[in-house]
Amino acid sequence: MNIACRICGSQRTAHWFDSPDHVTGEVFGLWRCEDCGFGFTWPQPRSLDRYYADFYRDYDRASAGLLQRLQQRRARRWVRALGHTGRCLDIGCGDGWILTEIRRQGWRVVGLERTVESARFAREVQRLPVIVGPLEAMRDDARFDLIVLHQALEHLPDPMDTLQHCGRLLRPGGRLVVAVPNLDSWQARWARGHWLHLDVPRHLGHFSPASLRRALERAGLSWESARYVSWEYDPVGWVDSALNKLGFPMNALLRIIQHDPRLRPGSVVGVAALMLAAVLILPATLLAILSWATRRGAIMEVQAYRPR
Ligand SMILES: [Zn+2]
Repeated sequence: MNIACRICGSQRTAHWFDSPDHVTGEVFGLWRCEDCGFGFTWPQPRSLDRYYADFYRDYDRASAGLLQRLQQRRARRWVRALGHTGRCLDIGCGDGWILTEIRRQGWRVVGLERTVESARFAREVQRLPVIVGPLEAMRDDARFDLIVLHQALEHLPDPMDTLQHCGRLLRPGGRLVVAVPNLDSWQARWARGHWLHLDVPRHLGHFSPASLRRALERAGLSWESARYVSWEYDPVGWVDSALNKLGFPMNALLRIIQHDPRLRPGSVVGVAALMLAAVLILPATLLAILSWATRRGAIMEVQAYRPR
């Protein structure tokens, strides 16, 4: 059986390895295109609702505060590099921390979310304008100076379609920021089916720098730069992937941090996972820093622009 690549259309795709979902225990295949290197989850469930646990992104106050500050610092870096103000669209804006920071820098902003429920915090607490629905819900004549796809593109069933739509919504010279896990990272290569950031089936598409560049170019966008620094996702990716390889319940550390009721921090497994994590976090951080310096980090943040 051959499944066409969603990025380059090639029929030369093949099963690579399997990976279990930590929510349901179901196993999914990781397929790869031999022409462009794009990876994809197969089969792709018709609806992903049951694969999102209630505790998804349910962090405690300290972890949430840290994530929030890192995201805001990142957003400040993006807009300051542009050196002007304008209009920004954040696709999959979540709680809206990136958008509130961009708004604070003098920009006009709008977010896009999948459901009314997932848009509630950004709308009601952050007072952000958030459109609920697919990207097609955006007016065709809307034009943006900055579009953000932060940890969002990998969740979408048709990433090529999304990027092409972004290309149309950008003003000439406008920027697109895409942050996704890096399938070509040391971490992904080492952990394979045990990799924390594979996160099947919630992640449907898995990019390498080469396949993302190809996708951006097909969408009429020009690759500008890539950055691999991710304090919040990279070291924890090494630790949890190592625990997965050692036979702990899948993604144990992340699930403890996110309050998965099936994995209590006080249980025998929970205590063992936390003790090992405490030992591993320093070498994991050093390894992460080394991988950023060699451009093989677990998360890549790519900037592209629409040519004038
Ligand atoms: Zn391909």
